[in-house]
Amino acid sequence: MAAQILDGKKVAEQIRSEVKAGVAERVKTGKSVPGLATVLVGDNPASHVYVASKQKACQEVGINSFGYELPATASQVEVEDLVKQLNADPNVNGILVQLPLPNGLDEENVLKSISIEKDVDGFHPINIGRLAQKGRDPLFVPCTPAGCIHLLKMTLPKLEGLNAVVLGRSNIVGMPVALLLVRENATVTICHSRSKNLPDIVRQADILVAAVGRPEMVKGDWIKPGAVVIDVGINRIDDVSRPKGYRLVGDVAFDEAKENASWITPVPGGVGPLTIAMLLQNTLRAAALLD
Ligand code: NDP
Repeated sequence: MAAQILDGKKVAEQIRSEVKAGVAERVKTGKSVPGLATVLVGDNPASHVYVASKQKACQEVGINSFGYELPATASQVEVEDLVKQLNADPNVNGILVQLPLPNGLDEENVLKSISIEKDVDGFHPINIGRLAQKGRDPLFVPCTPAGCIHLLKMTLPKLEGLNAVVLGRSNIVGMPVALLLVRENATVTICHSRSKNLPDIVRQADILVAAVGRPEMVKGDWIKPGAVVIDVGINRIDDVSRPKGYRLVGDVAFDEAKENASWITPVPGGVGPLTIAMLLQNTLRAAALLD
């Protein structure tokens, strides 16, 4: 039987409307309007698009959005000084430094300069460190990984004891997803570019999270019957039939995989929309930390 589709767009709309209601409730009770500051360094066109959509999403739910742009030539000190200024700004509850930073800037030190109470992207080394430790809780969890877990929890009553395979070990997706799955008591296998026998490992997975950035790498016969498949990958492939000359596909061969999976996320419209929804949720929570 073909898989059911996990409609991330619909789920994200629900989360956004809950955040909107939460913001309205704050205002009604005389509390502050949450504020998100975005810091964009350099001219990466994709980063400009991402930041613009985050700012628009803030406006739609009533969160104040403060945009800061620095040139690609900005020094480490200039970027960190801006972050420090935002740490001290009472109107700013969340600080998002759009990654990747231009070459020459030390990403870890920039992330470290964000106050952990304003680290709504969840990438501060302390928040990530707490995520990795038993009995410790991060103040914020990275948004795309949080979106993956949110979708999984909608389809499975509990993740405990299930075999989860995560393809990819990046700081922003694969590793935090794996850490979150461990916290849910799943049995987690993390695969990467040096892993051997990927199809055999994936065939053991009750839960598969694919975050490798390789178009349709995961084939239908890798999927265990009944598995839940979360496809994080967003890849452009040439398609002359499309006006733009390309289309977006995930890391999983969707048409094949949906024949074996019980639930599967489409690309686009799966995990993608959850990322911004989680950012809004984190910003609302950051404001509540100060109440
Ligand atoms: P990275 O390039 O940072 O990491 C890719 C990971 O996949 C690495 O760990 C790499 O291994 C592993 N990998 C690469 N090739 C293979 C292979 N052939 N077999 C097994 N493992 C492999 O990517 P990101 O984590 O940033 O992103 C992954 C995908 O998710 C991309 O398509 C990206 O566009 C998408 N994405 C979507 C988001 C959203 O929906 N909102 C947000 C962020 C990303 P190694 O460590 O050994 O190099």
